[in-house]
Amino acid sequence: MSERMESSSIESSTVSSMTMMEEDEHPHQFSSISKLHSNGPTTTSVHDLLECPVCTNSMYPPIHQCHNGHTLCSTCKTRVHNRCPTCRQELGDIRCLALEKIAESLELPCRYISLGCPEIFPYYSKLKHEAICNFRPYNCPYAGSDCSVVGDIPCLVAHLRDDHRVDMHSGCTFNHRYVKSNPMEVENATWMLTVFHCFGQYFCLHFEAFQLGMAPVYMAFLRFMGDEREARNYSYSLEVGGNGRKLTFEGSPRSIRDSHKKVRDSHDGLIIYRNMALFFSGGDRKELKLRVTGRIWKEQQNPEGGVCIPNLCS
Ligand SMILES: [Zn+2]
Ligand SMILES: [Zn+2]
Ligand SMILES: [Zn+2]
Ligand SMILES: [Zn+2]
Repeated sequence: MSERMESSSIESSTVSSMTMMEEDEHPHQFSSISKLHSNGPTTTSVHDLLECPVCTNSMYPPIHQCHNGHTLCSTCKTRVHNRCPTCRQELGDIRCLALEKIAESLELPCRYISLGCPEIFPYYSKLKHEAICNFRPYNCPYAGSDCSVVGDIPCLVAHLRDDHRVDMHSGCTFNHRYVKSNPMEVENATWMLTVFHCFGQYFCLHFEAFQLGMAPVYMAFLRFMGDEREARNYSYSLEVGGNGRKLTFEGSPRSIRDSHKKVRDSHDGLIIYRNMALFFSGGDRKELKLRVTGRIWKEQQNPEGGVCIPNLCS
């Protein structure tokens, strides 16, 4: 207990020696260190030390320093033409092992803590987790443009509505007509997006034309605005027809974590070949008139089936 009291007043300059000891086989002796880092006054200073003074990103091995001890990250090192950006002296090729070891001893919260992630990670595994963190922001689901907007679901819904002028619908059934006057021009892949709001969730209905091998096709599919695990709680069906024929598709919506292109290329949706589409359209085959109807429903939740998300269950 007295150790804990003592260590709570240490400054960052003494952290390195403790870290070295931690690496000896007495981890239990200093089990309170990492806790201390994450909420004591040392957190800020050690964390500041690990921030590259040039690009302000967190530094990962190899961390470099100049002859005067100024640190910088390996990315910046390649850009500064062998001059220390801080003191302008020749940089050389010196590793800052002490700082690398300090970093190893740190435990930090996931960067998406403000989005709800409660996890804490050793410094060097933090990045790995953040790449797959369930709370990481989503990319904009709008297809056909290189939109770089990221955010949580409510923010993306507002973005789709206000910036992409996407149609918003409430309800779990839909009935959409796609009309195209020049159906021979499939190469200029057309795509449409409609957002549905039901069961307190948002779903993206994509409709588009593209070339599948030699054949022009139309495809409709649904994506869930949320992660994969939640997506599995829902199913949907799509139906298109006319002239006494119909095609149906039934499946699970894919999460918008899967890119629009990935879903399209896996053909996970209702695919209508152009000849069939024109047949459905009736008339003189000069105009495409497709009526796509669909329904979204919630699957019966199986308590044994692991629908429980650990992050939300604690
Ligand atoms: Zn840097
Ligand atoms: Zn320097
Ligand atoms: Zn996280
Ligand atoms: Zn966007």
